[in-house]
Amino acid sequence: MSTDSTQKVAIVTGASRGIGKAIAEKLAKDGFLAALVARDEEKLSTVQKEIEAGGGVACTHVCDLAQRGAFGALIEQIFEEYGRIDVLVNNAGMTRDGLMLRMSDEDFDEVINVNLRSVFEGCRVAVRPMMRGRFGRIINITSVSGISGNAGQANYASSKAGLIGLTKTIAKEFGSKGITSNAIAPGFIETDMTAELGEEIRKGVEKTVPLRRYGQPEEIASAVSFLASDGGGYITGQVLVIDGGLTC
Ligand code: NAD
Repeated sequence: MSTDSTQKVAIVTGASRGIGKAIAEKLAKDGFLAALVARDEEKLSTVQKEIEAGGGVACTHVCDLAQRGAFGALIEQIFEEYGRIDVLVNNAGMTRDGLMLRMSDEDFDEVINVNLRSVFEGCRVAVRPMMRGRFGRIINITSVSGISGNAGQANYASSKAGLIGLTKTIAKEFGSKGITSNAIAPGFIETDMTAELGEEIRKGVEKTVPLRRYGQPEEIASAVSFLASDGGGYITGQVLVIDGGLTC
């Protein structure tokens, strides 16, 4: 892997598959060094090889975001290694669906921990080098569930709504330091996460979504690419909904 200190560094969590993989591939194509974060080393190194085969630069970092302190420590390590952090895409997320009356405390806590607390922890560390460089782009992947709520997702919807509050707060606290902070709220995107919902739900969604199909991970990645680019420099504190018109 060839790196130089003028190459901008973009950290992408949940980069082993789905939306995170597409984001990492797109940012590498845009010229960023893509720092890929997830739990599965083998899958991460497959993504790294694909990026490198396309002429991009990537490194891999195994991290369980559920572990308190782990993500912050990893970001410090990436900064020490590469000397800069320009973009942080908090994409990793999980679900533990169930109706509220039956939802366990453990399932609530775990989802909040991974989807929200780890993002707070990562952003708190990443903003320091970003402030020093007077440039930073934080992009948090939330969900339409975080805007509208969703039966069976008290934990997930709360975590994603919290992410929107965090995104806007970062925009206000760090805008004067050259850091932008935005959220992207996908609707139904074709990944392992939605595959779990099954064919029946997919058919129902495809009947009601104005664009009549699930979105593709690349359609989220292109928006991340724009927000991370110079052209996205005056956008901050926003939530960009990408849902084929589901919630319009
Ligand atoms: P996915 O399940 O296919 O991938 C999730 C990624 O997050 C994986 O790389 C996984 O390893 C990583 N991850 C999960 N828990 C982790 C942990 N504890 N530590 C480290 N990494 C962890 O999901 P996806 O569909 O690609 O979703 C990506 C993001 O988009 C998530 O935040 C999800 O909530 C959000 N989202 C997805 C959809 C959709 O329709 N797919 C819709 C709205 C929002």
